[in-house]
Amino acid sequence: MSVPWRQKLAVGWYITKQRLRRVEKFPLVLQLEPLYQCNLACAGCGKIQHPQHILARRLTVQECIDAVEECGAPMVSIAGGEPLIHKEIHLIAKELVKRRKFVYLCTNALMMQRKLDLFQPSPYFAWSVHIDGLRERHDESVCRSGVFDKAVAAIREAQRRGFRVTTNTTFFGQDDARSIRAVLDFLNDELKVDQMQIAPGYAYEKAPDQEHFLGVERTRAIFREAFAGGKRRKWRLNHTPLYLDFLEGKVDFECTAWGIPSFSVLGWQRPCYLMADAPYAASYRELVEETDWSRYGRGRHPKCENCMAHCGYEPTAVLASTRSLKESVRAALSS
Ligand code: SF4
Ligand code: SF4
Repeated sequence: MSVPWRQKLAVGWYITKQRLRRVEKFPLVLQLEPLYQCNLACAGCGKIQHPQHILARRLTVQECIDAVEECGAPMVSIAGGEPLIHKEIHLIAKELVKRRKFVYLCTNALMMQRKLDLFQPSPYFAWSVHIDGLRERHDESVCRSGVFDKAVAAIREAQRRGFRVTTNTTFFGQDDARSIRAVLDFLNDELKVDQMQIAPGYAYEKAPDQEHFLGVERTRAIFREAFAGGKRRKWRLNHTPLYLDFLEGKVDFECTAWGIPSFSVLGWQRPCYLMADAPYAASYRELVEETDWSRYGRGRHPKCENCMAHCGYEPTAVLASTRSLKESVRAALSS
């Protein structure tokens, strides 16, 4: 199964309801980060540099439920840190599924096989496994050998047990059109994951490797080349066609950071999960109403200059698609 029709219809109906109620800003996905601690230390990561007392913090199950209910997003991406380190992560996922939220549990997969018994396959639940490239490239990206093989084994086992399995792949300066095609062909045709999410790495200030973030022009060039010849139609990419057009440089968008708000052990992050530019908000309402959103996006803020991340630009693409019959049909027919 790729994106189930149930999910497409539920999200489409949710957007329609917001428009009918004339809600100007509403969340599509909540980025929930119940901890920042991780069992890897990837070169391009900007999440694990917090001091020890923050890495030791955990959101409770109830805090996660409250954040999801307060913002009302139909989809929740649980990330971190490594969510599977959280001892109650299965309870968090279960409570959100019970509330009919479409949950993506992001993981580097090191603990996944061991924890599979704690989870139940459901149309509302999907694994999102971090795979940055084929074996050598992925292990280089996560700075540890053997991680690619563990992730692939965990994916195969989860598929065998009937789980929906997706992947998330971040591309950096070491990548080119050939390496992008190689990993997407592998995930699509050999591993046969349900869907794949892709992103150019955001230039986190705190990431140890500052040399290998892609700029906007290079991002456009490598995606244009990787997608050439109708390749992208063949892959089950978990993106709207308009966001893929954006990556290729066929269209340009403004950032819609309020579309994917982020809640973590520190509160509601402003303006997005990539960048903490202003004090954290104490509530979702405060985040939406008291953030000056006009300050963010490329051309508006120096830390946004090289960003083409889905958390800012996919919501823009989704909202643009729903305003156009042609784009709605394109999105409905895509994987
Ligand atoms: S697995 Fe994710 S959270 Fe952990 S270090 Fe790597 S990028 Fe950061
Ligand atoms: S462009 Fe948008 S998504 Fe990217 S860092 Fe800035 S606010 Fe966040």
